[in-house]
Amino acid sequence: MRPPIAAAAPPSLSAPSEPGPVRFSADGRKRRRFTLRAWSVRNAALLEKIYATFERGLLALDPLFRAVGYERSEKPVAFVERHAKGLLFDCRMCGQCILTATGMSCPMTCPKQLRNGPCGGVRPNGTCEVIPDAPCVWVKAWEGSRNMAAGDGILAVQPPVDQSLRETSSWLRVARRATAGREARP
Ligand code: SF4
Repeated sequence: MRPPIAAAAPPSLSAPSEPGPVRFSADGRKRRRFTLRAWSVRNAALLEKIYATFERGLLALDPLFRAVGYERSEKPVAFVERHAKGLLFDCRMCGQCILTATGMSCPMTCPKQLRNGPCGGVRPNGTCEVIPDAPCVWVKAWEGSRNMAAGDGILAVQPPVDQSLRETSSWLRVARRATAGREARP
């Protein structure tokens, strides 16, 4: 008689499956990324408030962006955005940020880059079907959104990603769009 197959242990971020010097550093980096992403989702309400203030500052800088030129501002602003959001959200610089509509969980970190909710493969313990030791980005997005004042924005249907905007600054786009909107008003 064949022995019963042992149930697989649930995936854990704190227990790398194959310890070793090389894997350890890769797993350590991965854990740090997941830890910061988890912190951002847990603090989605605070980050929502901080972003609202930041956005006001961004809009106030419009005269400066115009004086320098939006095109010339692109490189330095994108540099700062990449590093700040890379640290907090593992940002992939899609150029069309929807963090405020996804509970501060970046949808581009989903291996399938889904922007309108999870695929059908979320595991029973809430982890990803592609990366079993990673929490599903959309499970986290829902959790984060429940703590945000404008969390119901997660219910809005997002358009497909415009690949031509990759590596460009979402911040500048927000400032530019707000200015264009103001100017279009009678
Ligand atoms: S939605 Fe796009 S811009 Fe926003 S954090 Fe994710 S990759 Fe970066």
